[in-house]
Amino acid sequence: MAASSQQQPELALQGLLFAVEPAETPADKTDPETDSAPLDEDALTEDANRRPRRRSRAKEKDQPTAAPAEPTTSDDSDLPPWHHHNLVDAEQLTPMLRHYVELKAAHPERVLLYRLGDFFECFFEDAIQLSRLLELTLTGKEGGKAIGRVPMAGIPHHAAERYCAELVGRGLSVALCDQVESTPAKGALLKREITRVLTPGTVLEEGLLSARRNNWLCAVVCEQSRWGLAVADVSTGEFRVTERDGSDLLHQELLQVEAAEVLWPGEGQPSWCPDALRLTALARTPFTSPEARTTLLQRFRLASLDGLGLGEMPLGLRAAGGLLRYLDDTQPGTCVPLELPSTWQAGDQLVLDAATRRNLELTRTQLAGGLHGSLLWALDRTHTAMGGRRLRRWIEAPLVDHAAILGRQNGVSELVNGRQLRVALRRLLRPMGDLERLAGRAGAGTASARDLVALADGLERLPQLAGLISNAVIQTTAGQHEPVSSPPLLALARPWPELEALAAELRHVLLDTPPLSLSEGGLIHDGVDPQLDGLRNQLDDQEAWLAQQEAAERSNSGISTLKLQYHRTFGYFLAVSKAKARTVPEHWIRRQTLANEERFVTPELKAREGRILQLKARAAQREYELFCNLRSHVGEQAAPIRAAARLVAELDAIASLAEVAATNNYCCPELTEPSGPEARLLQIEAGRHPVVEQLLVEAPFTPNDIQLGSLQAADTSKNPDLIVLTGPNASGKSCYLRQTGLLQLMAQIGSWIPASRARLGITDRIFTRVGAGDDLAAGQSTFMVEMAETANILHHATSRSLVLLDEIGRGTATFDGLSIAWAVAEYLAEEIGARSVFATHYHELNELADQLPNVANAQVLVEDTGNELRFLHRVVKGGANRSYGIEAARLAGVPPAVVLRARQVLGRIEANSHVAVA
Ligand code: ADP
Repeated sequence: MAASSQQQPELALQGLLFAVEPAETPADKTDPETDSAPLDEDALTEDANRRPRRRSRAKEKDQPTAAPAEPTTSDDSDLPPWHHHNLVDAEQLTPMLRHYVELKAAHPERVLLYRLGDFFECFFEDAIQLSRLLELTLTGKEGGKAIGRVPMAGIPHHAAERYCAELVGRGLSVALCDQVESTPAKGALLKREITRVLTPGTVLEEGLLSARRNNWLCAVVCEQSRWGLAVADVSTGEFRVTERDGSDLLHQELLQVEAAEVLWPGEGQPSWCPDALRLTALARTPFTSPEARTTLLQRFRLASLDGLGLGEMPLGLRAAGGLLRYLDDTQPGTCVPLELPSTWQAGDQLVLDAATRRNLELTRTQLAGGLHGSLLWALDRTHTAMGGRRLRRWIEAPLVDHAAILGRQNGVSELVNGRQLRVALRRLLRPMGDLERLAGRAGAGTASARDLVALADGLERLPQLAGLISNAVIQTTAGQHEPVSSPPLLALARPWPELEALAAELRHVLLDTPPLSLSEGGLIHDGVDPQLDGLRNQLDDQEAWLAQQEAAERSNSGISTLKLQYHRTFGYFLAVSKAKARTVPEHWIRRQTLANEERFVTPELKAREGRILQLKARAAQREYELFCNLRSHVGEQAAPIRAAARLVAELDAIASLAEVAATNNYCCPELTEPSGPEARLLQIEAGRHPVVEQLLVEAPFTPNDIQLGSLQAADTSKNPDLIVLTGPNASGKSCYLRQTGLLQLMAQIGSWIPASRARLGITDRIFTRVGAGDDLAAGQSTFMVEMAETANILHHATSRSLVLLDEIGRGTATFDGLSIAWAVAEYLAEEIGARSVFATHYHELNELADQLPNVANAQVLVEDTGNELRFLHRVVKGGANRSYGIEAARLAGVPPAVVLRARQVLGRIEANSHVAVA
């Protein structure tokens, strides 16, 4: 099991990218005098048997602090002559820089960071770019006699994670070239290799990911207008494939997942890729059908791909193959655990286009762009990061399947009604950690010892969750007491024998609070491994010798304050105060003089030191080996850990929705049958805006009703399909519109909603066109954006859709605008029959209700007290018969003469204009 001595340093360095380096040790000296006890495996085991070590809860070791960063060079030349690596003749470079240039040529698209001592350095164009991006000093390094200095910039290796996070966050890919041996062969360069490639879509490190959102890596294969898309979150193992027509849909899909990186076999900037996303162009071969098939078969060790359901998705399959190959290329030597690809289709979820997501402020607000004030903000009370990610995805992709919605809704209802169970479950969830990503890091071989301890913490709680759910009794709304019955909760009420055993093993092997570094020991309990125990026994012997030596030297020298101490660089020494330094024994050798202290060594001490350091290095190495074995054992179980983690994430998201529902007085919406007569019903009593209600502190939120959706058979409900909503500015029209969309959406993620009662049919799409979103970046005027969005709605809405339009036609001349608004409303009501709310300040649109049976008017009430307009925020039937623009102008202090004149002009216009449509 022991690695050969030549392999050991290499093993110790790999996988330690962001860990603390092994301690710098004085050269290994062995002395035949002190090197007496044999260190082979049998002897150590025999020692461990003879002197068994007892487990103890070891205290966390002090972390050595890294040496302070030294300035690299002093040359601050501003415009370096060698500003690109391909300008130099590699033959003329020093061997180290030649190696750098060779690697750079193989990875031209990546920032190449090259380990030199305590720094990761980069040269040429990368140095210039990095110095700009990270505000590092651009210095230089001697490149060879014929070359002179070449640009260089560097970061301390212990800060690599932070800097890499910044670079990856800016969409760059980074290749890290690390030392893979600690001492070079005679006359050779220290061996260095690319040990890790970090790209925005493939990072696994905790510090590089945002905890509460998925990090999606996408791959696209297009052929004419058809496209295949593979989507994977490398950190959580999810992997999905789809294939469809229409590049605008692909654009939407990529925007929706907010892909961290989009791979494709092509060049340039294709129109389907949203500008903000990072596009990585790759070679075509891995994306070809035969290559992709082979990749998938090998990766998942399958004999055939028939079971994956990819038969109908040839382009999706090719995208999946390209994605997997990219993962292999960027994670050399590791196999990141990924689940088998599943497929998804259009129509599996509620369709929300980019404008609607933006307008409804699902996960970020329109103005500030932050989470605060978004729907996710209002609903997220999750306790774990994986629960947070789950809830975000539910909000981004609500359901359309009646049974699936009910399944989740039942879970929420059980936890709203079962308060005790909810509180107890949430208490357990809080410290469960991110099992999903921890499992991934174990599988990829990047998990630290602390990660594995956190994993054990989480796994140990699974049986507790199961116990709580199995034993809970919930009081139903009818007052009966019943056990838990909803599928998402019941799924957790089962034993987890393998995972419990794994948690027990982790506990048995690992100390509770291991250090960050994996190479300095302090990870593994006593009593776990005989070899390690043997080494530790011998170290104890050495410690005892040191203590004895200290006492002996004290009495020899007569210096009672003498201390035997250890320093990372100087090794063991005897420290005495300056005053006593003159009387030390002859055989002491002066080593170092400090302000108040003199430090000495003795030949005996030096000889021991070699032995002790050798023992320590062997023990640390053994611990690292044991840890790596344990980690790969955990990695093999990534799939069952993740399966459990998914259920826990779901429970956390459900418990969060239940918590919000219970504390904010929500009701459970009744979902009508999709094939029944009420399939198009949208009926909400006393509905409230879930976000505004939480943000309002001074005034209470005014609830409002809405009834939409004529019944398809003989209509007895008199529900309109389209409501024309009028009311002055700032009266609450937009709020009412958004509220309607949000409540429908919440119902379709399985949530309860802020209302007193609701009966809702399932909608296939929600469209909104709210407010004036000027797309200045795209160089389009407000009006053109508005019309483009309107066109999209009119092309895609169906009778099952919910359409929310605000102030359509405002961006042009009054009569133009009014005419467009009229025609759009008419088309929606007559041709499409979509359920729509049309907020407008054109009160002329109220006449539509007289002409079309499925149109009704509503208005937001205001009270004109003479001195002010009081906004009541109440929506009532009937249209406003005037607009309040002139009132608002008066209140704003426009001179009375102007106000009077405006009234006269308005009177004349109104007398002469009338919408008379045939
Ligand atoms: P409009 O679209 O008519 O210009 P908004 O919908 O933007 O008006 O509403 C203006 C403000 O009125 C909102 O920011 C909100 O604070 C408040 N408001 C809107 N509706 C309500 C309500 N139902 N209850 C309480 N305050 C409301």
